Amino acid sequence: MKWTVCIIGGGPCGLLAARELALRDVNTIVFEEHDEIGEPVHCAGLVGMKCLRELRVPEREDIVLNVVYGIRLVLPSGSTILLKTGKPMGLVLDRAKFDQEIGIEAYNAGAEIMKGHRVVGIRLMERGVKVAVDFKGERKVVLARYVICAEGMTRRITRSVFKVPKGVLIGIQEEYELPMRIEDRYVTVFLGRRYSQGLFGWAIPTRYGFRIGTASYRDPMKGLNMIKATDLVKRMIRGGRIIRRMAGFVNTQGTLERFSDANDRVFLVGDSAGQNKPLSGGGIYYGGKGALILANEIVREEDIGRNYERKWNAIFGKEIRRMLILRNIMDKLEDREIDILFKTLFSKEEELEELSDYYDSHYMLIKRILPLRLFNIAKLIFKLGPRLITKLVI
Ligand SMILES: Cc1cc2nc3c(=O)[nH]c(=O)nc-3n(C[C@H](O)[C@H](O)[C@H](O)COP(=O)(O)OP(=O)(O)OC[C@H]3O[C@@H](n4cnc5c(N)ncnc54)[C@H](O)[C@@H]3O)c2cc1C
Repeated sequence: MKWTVCIIGGGPCGLLAARELALRDVNTIVFEEHDEIGEPVHCAGLVGMKCLRELRVPEREDIVLNVVYGIRLVLPSGSTILLKTGKPMGLVLDRAKFDQEIGIEAYNAGAEIMKGHRVVGIRLMERGVKVAVDFKGERKVVLARYVICAEGMTRRITRSVFKVPKGVLIGIQEEYELPMRIEDRYVTVFLGRRYSQGLFGWAIPTRYGFRIGTASYRDPMKGLNMIKATDLVKRMIRGGRIIRRMAGFVNTQGTLERFSDANDRVFLVGDSAGQNKPLSGGGIYYGGKGALILANEIVREEDIGRNYERKWNAIFGKEIRRMLILRNIMDKLEDREIDILFKTLFSKEEELEELSDYYDSHYMLIKRILPLRLFNIAKLIFKLGPRLITKLVI
């Protein structure tokens, strides 16, 4: 068999898996349907401080466009809350450069990367997997011992082998470039149904502009226009020009039931596997870690699927389960209740160091900050208690 591993999708997760496998001399080929790695971008590019370090991607200036130090919350009523961290909270990436860097590393390590090649189907054989590929109208078939599905949220191939849940958010974003360097160091998050049904809107400062976006189950364009109509965003983008528009699906529904088929031939990683945060849809870090774990297990070749799932779930499983519950509660809150929730828990401006330490674990963040706010919680239960309980039960 020519290929030990065939990877469908040259996004960060597919390429990270390819890099790790090739570094250990595993014969690996990646098929990417687009002609360029990293393009088109469909991401806001915000990650926590440990993401690049743990995924072993250099924190170079062309990859990291900005460092942010907190979150500015815009509540449904229009009030704002500023949560600041003394140390860096997150990095704003040039997603195209980030993907390209991993692609170069994978290629230098020995992985074959086939751009402009779209996988159109896979067939499980007794001793491997047949992968059918379309290259500009020409059909090719390759045989690999293992297939890694890293095709992102399209999940076309994933769907042919695994049960895929319904219900994804549609994310849209406009990236603005301004004539001068900007000094904003806060991510702005817009809460409320007029901006998003199912998540939130955002304004993320890059080096020379802002990414303005939202993800919603319904009519994201309307949400985006509402965000752009706020005085805050009008000020941010004044004099700027749009350099990129994009759309993509966002998963906040948790992972698929399994990350591998029954015979350990096909594995899922990244968005294909649902390795995203339920409260934000962020998937670069969770999926990237998935790629590293999976590559390791393929090299070890002992009960690959089970060990991969067990190790990924040991890190993120509890977080996902708990945050799915919170996601469910957040989805049920009315705008007025969101206002009460945040205004009761936080003052108008405050230092919240934990935002930096626990950026990648919302569960740990909540666990750390709630015990310090027992008085606020008591007030919240008094204000929202009966209504919240009714919503949880129904
Ligand atoms: C609007 C929006 C904003 C986001 N913001 C953030 C954020 O700020 N932070 C964060 O952590 N995450 C964010 N995410 C999520 C993040 O983009 C994903 O979690 C991440 O890209 C997942 O990487 P991946 O490699 O699994 O999939 P992808 O990045 O989607 O890569 C999949 C690749 O597979 C290719 N492909 C698909 N099908 C085939 C096929 N049949 N044959 C060959 N190639 C194929 C695609 O072209 C693509 O290159 C955002 C997502 C959206 C939509």
